[in-house]
Amino acid sequence: MENDFKEVSENYTIAEAVREAQRCLHCKVPGCKKGCPISNDIPDWIAELAKGNFGNAMKIIHGRSNLPAVCGRVCGHERQCEGNCVLAKKGAHINIGKLERFVADFDSSACLTHEAIPEKSRGRVAVIGSGPAGLTIAGDLSRQGFAVEIFEMESEPGGVLQYGIPEYRLPKEVVRREIKKIENLGVVFHLNTTVGENFTIDDLFAQGFDAIFMGTGTGVPKRLSIPGINHPAVRQAIRFLRRVSLYESGSISRDEVIVGNGDRVFVIGCGNTAIDAARTALRMGSAEVNVVYHRTVNEMSALRAEYDDAVAEGVNFLWNSSIIEIEGGDDDRLRSVLLETKMEDGSTEQHRMDADHVVMAVGSSPAARIVSTTDGIEVDERGYVLTREEPYGMSTRPGVFAGGDVTNRPATVVHAMRDAKQVAESIARYIDAVKLLQIINQ
Ligand code: SF4
Repeated sequence: MENDFKEVSENYTIAEAVREAQRCLHCKVPGCKKGCPISNDIPDWIAELAKGNFGNAMKIIHGRSNLPAVCGRVCGHERQCEGNCVLAKKGAHINIGKLERFVADFDSSACLTHEAIPEKSRGRVAVIGSGPAGLTIAGDLSRQGFAVEIFEMESEPGGVLQYGIPEYRLPKEVVRREIKKIENLGVVFHLNTTVGENFTIDDLFAQGFDAIFMGTGTGVPKRLSIPGINHPAVRQAIRFLRRVSLYESGSISRDEVIVGNGDRVFVIGCGNTAIDAARTALRMGSAEVNVVYHRTVNEMSALRAEYDDAVAEGVNFLWNSSIIEIEGGDDDRLRSVLLETKMEDGSTEQHRMDADHVVMAVGSSPAARIVSTTDGIEVDERGYVLTREEPYGMSTRPGVFAGGDVTNRPATVVHAMRDAKQVAESIARYIDAVKLLQIINQ
């Protein structure tokens, strides 16, 4: 397990993929499509795949998704397409996620499809942030004839796909390939560029952009108020995962990751980020990893499949439990944590456990960089950007749109994509309308 960041799930061979696709019943009213947040035309591309027409399958998928190799790997299929497949009732749903991954990977390695780059004549759009929402906006609008430029603060694009989801679930090479396809549509990437620091939204409008999309996500982790929480051995999961990702890519040394090497680690929270942090801590050589959650297994927000894998790999789960005190030790390490567990009869029990590190995965909220340097963008009391229903996704500043986590609507990669698809349509309509008015008023 230690240092084994190789992708956990194996891809289909051609024969396996075609055989699996041939099991599909091509239902008249396909539950799979209904269950997919971006209404992927699943039966249609599975039908092409079943006939061996991989290129056609890819074209159909691209009609709805800019990131199929990502979705095929990290979507919650059990709750979405596969959970709604008619064959799921017999416990034999079509493995839609694995098939989507197969088509996308096959297309990339065989260079099967080449999308024509449309003429960029409808307007200019600046996209801030290159996570799932930003990439979706860029792909959709670029295909519709808009010139799109992405501004990304990191040295590599992808946001949470690049720095948040661990390599064993989503290899960075896959993310790079998907982004390359979006770049091939004519999208321009500006890396190491922080809007709100290097320049402002007003500067972008002055440069001639017709609309701006904020897909800046939630980069400020939430903190709990527990005695000892400020000790340096208490880390934020998103920062820990980012460091491991940088270490994996050779950008920082092993020493700079810190967690691992025989440590006893406690992860607070039980969403997908918590599970990612726990499984990553094991891969960094931790001797013992405990996930501490104040509710039960049935109330966790993590995907069941991720939880099952974590259990199989040796992660312990402490249900109905909270850390109520953190005792610091020497050398950037802890000594122990004090846990409180709710018992079935409603009473509580406390016990102390030896600990070296605590990793917090209790959510995050948006940074204020952009809104604090721009007039007219209102946020709610927690810093999420307020947007309208009409034009969908537009903030209180005309021409500035927002989507993805920064608006507090979506919860997963594919939900951020669904939201962004709607915002992309809205941006296109907005720019067309503004340009039409300009012509009428000339
Ligand atoms: Fe095929 Fe299942 Fe979708 Fe029916 S619901 S079309 S069997 S994948």
